Amino acid sequence: MLILLFVVVVVPTVCVLWFMTEAMRNQRLAVRQELTTLYRGQLVGLGQELRTFWERKQLALASMDPDTPAAELFAELVRSGVADSAIVYDSSGRVLHPPRPEPRTNDRTANSMEWLAAQELEFKRFDYAAAARAYARIAKDVNEPNVAARAFQAQARCLGKAGRKKTAVKVLTETLTQPRFRRALDLQGRLIAPSAQLMALQLMDDPELETYGRTADRLRAQLSDYSDPALTATQRRFLMKQFGALMPEAPAFTTLEALDLAFRYLESDPPPRRGGSLGSSELPGVWRLASQDGRLVAMFRERSVKAQAGSLIANLALPEDAVVAFSPPGTATQELSFASVSFEGILPGWRLTLHLPDQRLLDSAASEQIAAYLWTGILVIALIVVVAVVIARSVGRQMKLTQLKNNLIATVSHELKTPLASMRLLVDTLLEGHTHDEPRVREYLELIAKENVRLSRLIEHFLAFSRMERNKQTFERVEIQAQDIATAAAEAVNERFHSAHCRFDVNIEPNLPKIVGDADVLVTVMLNLLDNAYKYSEGDKHIVLRAYSENAHVCFEVQDNGIGLSHKAAKRVFQRFYQVDQSLSRGSGGVGLGLSIVQFIVKAHGGSVSVASQAGEGSTFTVKLPVPETEDRSDGP
Ligand code: ADP
Repeated sequence: MLILLFVVVVVPTVCVLWFMTEAMRNQRLAVRQELTTLYRGQLVGLGQELRTFWERKQLALASMDPDTPAAELFAELVRSGVADSAIVYDSSGRVLHPPRPEPRTNDRTANSMEWLAAQELEFKRFDYAAAARAYARIAKDVNEPNVAARAFQAQARCLGKAGRKKTAVKVLTETLTQPRFRRALDLQGRLIAPSAQLMALQLMDDPELETYGRTADRLRAQLSDYSDPALTATQRRFLMKQFGALMPEAPAFTTLEALDLAFRYLESDPPPRRGGSLGSSELPGVWRLASQDGRLVAMFRERSVKAQAGSLIANLALPEDAVVAFSPPGTATQELSFASVSFEGILPGWRLTLHLPDQRLLDSAASEQIAAYLWTGILVIALIVVVAVVIARSVGRQMKLTQLKNNLIATVSHELKTPLASMRLLVDTLLEGHTHDEPRVREYLELIAKENVRLSRLIEHFLAFSRMERNKQTFERVEIQAQDIATAAAEAVNERFHSAHCRFDVNIEPNLPKIVGDADVLVTVMLNLLDNAYKYSEGDKHIVLRAYSENAHVCFEVQDNGIGLSHKAAKRVFQRFYQVDQSLSRGSGGVGLGLSIVQFIVKAHGGSVSVASQAGEGSTFTVKLPVPETEDRSDGP
């Protein structure tokens, strides 16, 4: 049975579980593979976009008009967003923009007597009013615009120091803005006009003034205008910074950061570059792309390179927590990247990688299919178990039946053999005619009759049992006097039980209520119990038959002082074919069916049978039969 269960349940269950885990694992792998292909495809697409983007930049560098002045080229590259900054070279590799500072120009006028006298008043005597007058005189006398402008600038400076700010501002904003001073330079080679505007703003220091706004606008326009080659990059950068410091709220100059970057780049003194790819520069975190002819070197901050890639990455349809990184050459890429794409050509060594920090996402993608597998598996296992239980039950029942039949056949043949053999022996002896003795013949015939009775009882038991097994036994349902049952049973055994070694007491309560049932079979029940009491008592027997009413029941009790039953045996005596001591029972013509027949009949009448016994102390069997309600009411207390 166990092996059968193992084969029917365990083996298929293990197989199903194995299939399930394999299917789930394969499903996960398949989903992973599918997603890898999908994401990789997206990364490749993104890589293509990035490459095209950078190739366009290269094209933009190549398409710049070589005749455009260097400063304008620079401004155009930065303002159009082609580059964060740029250096413009000439064809021989000399830097055109931002130009390196020119050496100071030496102007003879600076050493003229009047100029030296004015300077002495200003710097040694600190007589600013006199110095201002001296500078004004020089400005009026001289024809050369550079010198005149310088003198006016010095006059304004001294007026400012002397506290005559208004006059100073007037000189700066009215005189020095005249067209003839537009290209006037100071001794450092710087344009005087824009510096004068800045000084005017510093002196006014009141943004509410109308002159202030006008001056500021003029200066801003001039600083943003890269077409004037006279304004050097160094001066432009300086003035932009000063302007920014004066007006922190005003919008910043778009090219100031680019100028800063270009100057920093040139400080590292890099050699000119030519064409190719986005490579590292001498500055950390700054990448460089040169035009094919080497006239332009565009610069890109790493963060703007990444931000630009980021805007493309944002367009990808990826899981929420997926991290896509565009990393420069030399970055340690994470080992566990889910998919990655590397670049050649314009972006050598750059990599696009995709990470999925939460791999459970993959499982959840496969979860629907996995759940389907799981449920199928569970259903199949449940089905296997149900089928196995049904099979086990039916096989068990079949086995029990077979065992019962085998028992019956063995018992029947064994039990019939003994009385038949002794009867045959007695009949043979009588037939041979050796015995003429009348009493002996009678004794033999009595013996034969006794065996016959025993045989009939056996056959009756078997037939009753057989009917019971097939549930074919039907009982009459008529009203009977309960004491009639007890009296009939007592009478039937009376002769046998009244002997020298046996005492038989009958105790029947008067006026017992009526019960409903089959009188004959109920007498059989009592006879079975009385027979057993007789059979299983040794020596001096004392058997008591009682009948009394109790709690709407009629109770029949058979008590003996016989061998009794152990606690364990008492529990089993009503089972079919159960015998405590087979030799003892067989000797007295029993097959272990009597009590099971008793129980069957009593239950069929709606009653119960029980035993109270102890080994060696005798037994008491009690049959309780219900009294019908009407009867109970009429006869009850
Ligand atoms: P059997 O035909 O063997 O008597 P029963 O079904 O009548 O079969 O009884 C089953 C077994 O119960 C007997 O074999 C016997 O061992 C035990 N038994 C029945 N009645 C008594 C009793 N009054 N005292 C002791 N044992 C009993």
